[in-house]
Amino acid sequence: MTLLDGKTLAASIEKELIDEVHHFKVSGIIPTLAVVLVGEDPASCAYVNMKVKACDRVGIVSIAKRLSEDVAEDELLKIIQDLDKDENIDGILIQLPLPGHIDTKKILEAVSYQKDVDGFHPFNAGRLLAGIQAFAPATPLGVMNLLKSYDISVRGKNVAIIGASNIVGKPLASLMLNAGATISVCHILTQDLTFFTKNADVVCVGVGKPGLIQADMIKEGAIVIDIGINRLENGTLVGDVDFESVSKKATFITPVPGGVGPMTIASLLQNTLLAAKNRKLKDQKS
Ligand code: NAD
Repeated sequence: MTLLDGKTLAASIEKELIDEVHHFKVSGIIPTLAVVLVGEDPASCAYVNMKVKACDRVGIVSIAKRLSEDVAEDELLKIIQDLDKDENIDGILIQLPLPGHIDTKKILEAVSYQKDVDGFHPFNAGRLLAGIQAFAPATPLGVMNLLKSYDISVRGKNVAIIGASNIVGKPLASLMLNAGATISVCHILTQDLTFFTKNADVVCVGVGKPGLIQADMIKEGAIVIDIGINRLENGTLVGDVDFESVSKKATFITPVPGGVGPMTIASLLQNTLLAAKNRKLKDQKS
């Protein structure tokens, strides 16, 4: 069994990004990411802090907008529109989930697709599905980059994706389909999860349920990607896979922590630089 070490790969990506960011700065473009956080949900605060620190490490300027839980939708929209108009900002990230009184779809669509480094705008989601160049959401992109770095191709493979959210499962399905895999996307209503996981060469799970995937649910030699992040009562961080038993049957498996999580952050930084690159091209044309 080989561990898919996202932590080490993410660190080496960051190292390369430091040079790239430096070159941008020399050419007069300062890659900049705006991060919008509404409320004080501890997990969301932790993710935003991790993203801001990652920007600092590679030299990307981050602008964090921390808003109160009861911010009005109109006020939030205005803040996003202002960030969107600001020519010095390359990417805008809105930390999800947003409070119930805010229409998440409306807010995500307020970010122009050129600055949508999280890949949540329907324009980017549609292009991704169609296999056209687009910002792909950071977590699925991180999964694809991690597999690639271990020379694992999904072409012609059966892939079971457990979890069908717009930010994890669905875009991952698009990326894998475009890479030539045969995909089953499972979710809470799936009748017999084991039927799908047992027949899969690659099992990707992003649900948020510790221990959901057990060794008897996968085939011998499967590749297992654990996207779930769960904090147990004792404070331990675990994924959705029973690592202890599943790692004995898998050929490749991601640890939690240290697998997909760091790759998500690295992919967000890469997307931000891609947005900066697009800005540079636009500046050169005008
Ligand atoms: P979500 O709640 O939006 O979606 C969960 C999905 O899982 C849904 O499609 C639901 O139908 C499905 N589901 C729930 N219970 C199920 C079950 N018993 N069997 C099969 N499917 C089931 O969640 P999300 O935002 O997509 O996040 C999912 C998990 O991924 C969470 O643990 C989250 O913390 C983690 N996550 C990790 C990263 C990362 O960087 N590693 C990034 C984003 C999300």
